[in-house]
Amino acid sequence: MRRAIVAGNWKMHGSRAENAQLIEELLARFPAQPPAACVVCPPFVYLQEVGRLLRGSHLSLGGQDVCADAQGAFTGEVSAAMLKDVGCEYVIIGHSERRLLYRESDQLVARKFGAAHARGLVPILCVGEQLADRDAGRTHEVVARQLDVVLELCGAGGLEQGVVAYEPVWAIGTGRNATPDQAQEVHAFIRARIGARDARIAAATRILYGGSVKAGNAAELFAMPDVDGGLVGGASLKADEFLSILAAAGPG
Ligand code: PEP
Repeated sequence: MRRAIVAGNWKMHGSRAENAQLIEELLARFPAQPPAACVVCPPFVYLQEVGRLLRGSHLSLGGQDVCADAQGAFTGEVSAAMLKDVGCEYVIIGHSERRLLYRESDQLVARKFGAAHARGLVPILCVGEQLADRDAGRTHEVVARQLDVVLELCGAGGLEQGVVAYEPVWAIGTGRNATPDQAQEVHAFIRARIGARDARIAAATRILYGGSVKAGNAAELFAMPDVDGGLVGGASLKADEFLSILAAAGPG
């Protein structure tokens, strides 16, 4: 039985005051027995403080990115050990904004995944096609390529505790989510692709859907058999909305 995960990607939003308010609102109504693991991923500079606010709660902390290298002369970078040191359990890897805006290659993403895994963080590997790829029938090809580079570098064992997030680029921040059937189809493809290397790990891997998840569509997406929760952007900045999404991860 896979435990679902609902993870909030705050992206480059927030301030000390706004973060404190959001965490206060989340914790005030956070379920005593959450139906899924729940993670928030604030910007690097706020990790330590948000971590302090979360202490003793059922909310976990995650980074939005990590350096592929362990330490050294890498100005501006943050290592997996540093994320662990400030209390992170999870880290988002290869978000499409990093792939597209900062030109992160599949190879770099795979190295980052390996670095996170080696340090005991749970890497949340983002994969997903752009609209032109979907329209051209290349969704599987793109997702397989992004996944295979990680599987080649880290082996299926790299996914032992890892998480994959299927995030169709055309659904991120657009208000246009994939339909539950579209999501399920790609999630099943991802699981089968991992399963071709290791059936046990494939069955245990959590595959999250991301792309305009909201309170109003979460339940139908999470009801699909291979959708094990969500990676949530915009809606994770509103306590009510995020808590409703978390509730939707419970037994329907
Ligand atoms: C994301 O940033 O990973 C995301 C899915 O964003 P949104 O929920 O806003 O589409």
